[in-house]
Order: sequence, then structure tokens, then C-alpha cells
Amino acid sequence: MDIDLTYIDDINIKNKRVFIRADFNVPLDDKGNITDDTRIRGVLPTINYALDEGAKVILASHLGRPKGKRAPDMSLAPVAKRLGRLLQKDVIIAPDCVGEDVEKIVNAMKPGDVILLENLRFHSEEEKNDDEFGKKMASLADVYINDAFATAHRAHSSNVAITRHINGECGAGFLMKNELSYFKRAMDNPSRPLIAIIGGKKVSDKIGVLLSLCEKVDKLIIGGGMSLTFLKARGYKVGKSFAEDTVLDKALEIINRAREKDIKLYMPVDFVVADKFDPSAETKVVTFQEIPKDWMALDIGPATVTYFSEAIQNAKTIIWNGPMGVFEMDAFSRGTSAMVSNVANCYALSIVGGGDTDVAVHRAGEFAKMSYISTGGGAFLELLEGKNLPGITALMHCRKAD
Ligand code: AMP
Repeated sequence: MDIDLTYIDDINIKNKRVFIRADFNVPLDDKGNITDDTRIRGVLPTINYALDEGAKVILASHLGRPKGKRAPDMSLAPVAKRLGRLLQKDVIIAPDCVGEDVEKIVNAMKPGDVILLENLRFHSEEEKNDDEFGKKMASLADVYINDAFATAHRAHSSNVAITRHINGECGAGFLMKNELSYFKRAMDNPSRPLIAIIGGKKVSDKIGVLLSLCEKVDKLIIGGGMSLTFLKARGYKVGKSFAEDTVLDKALEIINRAREKDIKLYMPVDFVVADKFDPSAETKVVTFQEIPKDWMALDIGPATVTYFSEAIQNAKTIIWNGPMGVFEMDAFSRGTSAMVSNVANCYALSIVGGGDTDVAVHRAGEFAKMSYISTGGGAFLELLEGKNLPGITALMHCRKAD
């Protein structure tokens, strides 16, 4: 995707009402407390910049899946409170994201004020990319800024329809800028060797990504549950391991594509197998040819960790999505943790993307050593696949800064 965007710092926003689409979809506990505010912190550079420039800042986001209905437990009120603390100023939570009451609040705003609109997904129109709904939101603002990379792969009213109606310029925020510039560095003209590490459960979710990577990378490392589908496709027995019979031909196509393109493909040479899918299961390490009939492979083994870590030694760029095993259970988290350390200690540009990989990296405490951890799961994968992201395409077709 050739991306040419206007960014917030290309636009004159002084005294203007600036609508910033953010991703404040943060995890909450039973009592409605925010358990991780990384997503809120990610948008602070854009918000602070807009405030410093003297803009009136109107923030919008979704939270959870209220399915078009008001749900008090999915109100953005806790986000407004946390944001207020982080910005050290009052952040008013609006009663809704459109409508007369919201208009009144917006009309009374002064430069330097911040309001947070209520959960966009309280309206079913949001996820339908409803044009009228986008128009109503657009009427609140003079400038539109999208800083929600994690939802850029969805065509919703707040990132697509709104851009057709905003009576001023559109652009992207600094989080989006960061995401795209790291992605570009890794995938367009990267320092080589460029190595992709792909794990996670299903090949079926990542066929397009794997085929697309075969056009770009020098080495492709496949771990996690998906490696067992590849193993099965190559005719090996995988016992009770998770494997997708419906995509064995696709797995073979990917193996063949890698061979045609002269890409070195690395698969696990040993596994930690368990007698059941349970943290207290009996476990042992076996080679890839020896997975017992009634056992399941739930992590890569120690020889694989060594093999994979040698493969990335000379990497200049590493892109990683998906855990190496069932890292949620301690007994099967070692492979992923070891790979986190190996990647973190490489002298390479390392870009990690996808929800689970991000969690694994944080768990291992190595996030500071990664060059960049993407905030996008689906959006990151779709970029890897070479797809156009609707939220970004909408910005490219929107009015440019003069
Ligand atoms: P994905 O969303 O495709 O990146 O997959 C992430 C999930 O894959 C995690 O919840 C892991 O527990 C799971 N996973 C990784 N390795 C295995 C495995 N060998 N067997 C079953 N599930 C796995």
C-alpha cells in the first residue's frame, strides 16, 4: 500500500474544533477500573500537540461491543477520568457522540478544552459506516484526525463516512504516523536480512499474510499451533495437536512458494507435548517426528528455540506476529518467552504486532527492547498482507492540507 498522508502537524488547527478518532478500547475489570491504559497513553502525543496548538479537542472512540445499544458498563467515563489525570486537566465526557446536547457542549468549547464523546458503538450506525451518522459527527468539527490505527482495517462511520463530510482538512495523528513509518521501514526497502516470525493458532487466519511475506522476506520462521498444520501437510503425524485439515493444501502452497522464492523456511524441530490441554498436564519434549498418538504439541521445544535463535542472529529487520505456543499457560510459555528474549537482544529493527504477541512481550518484560510494538492486531496483519486499510484510504481521498 503506497501511503501518502497529511498529518496533524501539516494542518493549521489553531482555534479549530479538532475531532480525533482514537482507540480507547481499554480492558476494564468487573468494577469498571481500567487495567491497562497503554492505548490511552498512545494517543497522548496527538492530544497534547493539539492542545499546545490551541485547538478545541473532541475525542471519539469505541469501547467493547455494545452492539448498537447504550450499555453503562461500556461507557467511556472511566477513560475520561484517566485521560484527565494523564493530561492534568478536565476532560468532559459527553452524554452521547451525536445530537443536540453534544452540539451544545461543543459550541461552548474554548481553545484548550477537551471533551470525550460517549462510546461510538452505542449507535449501530457506527459499524455500518452509515453516511448520515458520519455527517452528524462531521458537523461537530472543523478538522478530522484519525489516530486509531487498531481500527483502520474496519470501514466504520467514525473513520470513513465522517471523512466525506468534514468541512475542513483531514489527517492522521502521531500514533498512526509511527505505526506506518515503522511498518514502511520494515517492509518497503528494509535492511536485510528481513526475517518474519509467524506463530499463533491458525494457518487459515494468516494464509494471505504468509503468501505475501514470501514476496518480501529472506527467512520465514513458523512456530505456534500453525506449525502443526504445516507438519501434517508434509505427512507427519501430529497426535491430538490442533491442526487444520481444511488448509493442508494451502500450507503446501506456502511451502512451495517459499521454495520457489528461495526463502529459507524454518519449522520447529521439537515440541513440548502434553497429555491434555491443561496447565497441570503431564509434559515431555519430543522431536517433530515423534509426537505420540494421544498427546498434543503445545509449545516449541528447546532445540527449536536454539534453531530459531540462530536463524535470527544476523537479522537486520525482524517482524513478528503470533506466539510460539499456548503461552497463556506457564507450562507452555517457555518457547515464546525465549523467543521474546532472543528478538529483544538482536541488533535488528524489531517490530512486533498482533494482540497476543504484544501480551507475550509485555509478560516477558522485554517491551522496552523491541523497536516497536504495534497497537494493531487485525490492522497490522492486513498491512502485512498488503491490503488497503479503509481508514487510511479514506484519509488519502480526503482534503489535503494546502
Ligand atoms: P493467533 O490469534 O492466531 O495469533 O493465536 C494465538 C493463540 O494461539 C494463543 O491463544 C495461543 O494459546 C494459541 N496457540 C499457540 N500455539 C498453540 C498450539 N501449539 N496449540 C494450540 N494453540 C496454540
